[in-house]
Amino acid sequence: MPENLFLTEIEGSTGVAVSECYQCFRCTNGCPAARDMDIVPHRTIGLIIAGERERVLSSASPWACLQCAACSIRCPNGIDIARVFTALRQLSVGSGMAAHREVHDFDTLMIDSIARHGRMYELGTVMRYRLARGEYLRQYRMGIGMVKKRRIGLFPHNAADRKGIRSIITKTVKNGR
Ligand code: SF4
Ligand code: SF4
Repeated sequence: MPENLFLTEIEGSTGVAVSECYQCFRCTNGCPAARDMDIVPHRTIGLIIAGERERVLSSASPWACLQCAACSIRCPNGIDIARVFTALRQLSVGSGMAAHREVHDFDTLMIDSIARHGRMYELGTVMRYRLARGEYLRQYRMGIGMVKKRRIGLFPHNAADRKGIRSIITKTVKNGR
């Protein structure tokens, strides 16, 4: 039997023993986002075991995942499915197969904002996202309205321990979580 490189890639990068899945469906049964997925959690795990790299990495499911970890908690084999979905997002972007790359781009800016300020600076993050996509005026009226109603701030408000928060984010990103 040829070696399943995709399974090795996922197990190696996550440290999760995906191959121990016996398709009991418990993960999918407890998943609040399953209805928004084109490939539900237990099926995604099954396809990884089957070596279906392209099918899994081009799926929209990792982008629908809420990272609530209900699946990981429910799994009788201790398989951290939420961790696998995070890895699938990263791999799908890296391989150019991501179904929703814009979600990844926004996530990256949001984490960068939290690393800088210790909390998210909403207006700055959305403006950077829109500028990067060339959508200079998209939803600007809504943005102005939200600032006027004080739903979001015009300027960033730095958290007291932003250095500590930045250090946590740096360690987390370095560990690929
Ligand atoms: S709950 Fe665990 S063992 Fe059951 S299908 Fe999901 S990943 Fe596989
Ligand atoms: S972590 Fe993602 S896949 Fe798991 S139950 Fe939550 S939404 Fe579903």
